[in-house]
Amino acid sequence: MMRLDKYLSERTGLTRSESRKAITKGRVAVNGMVCRKADTQVAEDAAIAVDGTPLAGSYQKYVYIMLNKPEGVVSASRDKRDTTVVDLVAADFPRRALFPAGRLDKTSTGFVLLTDDGALAHDLLSPAHHVDKQYLVTLDTPLTDAMRAGFAAGVTLADGETMAPAEAEPAGEDPCVVKVTLHQGVYHQIKRMFGVYGAGVNALHRYAIGGVALDAALAPGQWRELTAEELALLQ
Ligand code: URA
Repeated sequence: MMRLDKYLSERTGLTRSESRKAITKGRVAVNGMVCRKADTQVAEDAAIAVDGTPLAGSYQKYVYIMLNKPEGVVSASRDKRDTTVVDLVAADFPRRALFPAGRLDKTSTGFVLLTDDGALAHDLLSPAHHVDKQYLVTLDTPLTDAMRAGFAAGVTLADGETMAPAEAEPAGEDPCVVKVTLHQGVYHQIKRMFGVYGAGVNALHRYAIGGVALDAALAPGQWRELTAEELALLQ
């Protein structure tokens, strides 16, 4: 249950005060009856109509967006200088406080999950939940057996910090193109792990999070909401 003005605002994109005005003017019906009290409690499955037209779609408590992050965009909600991942979708979700559940570097591309569901984001990022993330990485030097063994054992960085075991495997014929699976998420993790071997990262693309693959139909900068099946894989 929630207040009618809040509910109307979340479903339509009207501000709370625009919603209240529409309600007090008698433009809003709940389950077939005009309702002029903005603080009326309504159920999430209530049938709401504005000016006689039923609202399209159904109420969603949270949204979950699969974005193919382009290069040059930062993984934040707001930034003074750069375009953020949230800027790319914000026009379609004016009343949602979206944020990225996990970050990619500004130069990295691929799957970023945007949501306003703090509990799910917390679970996805928590080391206890072991949500794997998969990347296609282009190195400036071929993958070596030492790198593969080091990733499997858990590399120790120059500053003494130890990374959890991960996988690095050739992606195909090109020895510089590598599939990496991480089970934790530490700042610049892949770049720092390869850096231990003197290898530089020329490109880094995340193509899956916890069994959900980035939709190949999404060009860089494009996004869509997760399907119910995809969401279930992450919950
Ligand atoms: N590791 C990195 O170094 N960068 C990313 O963007 C993701 C993982």
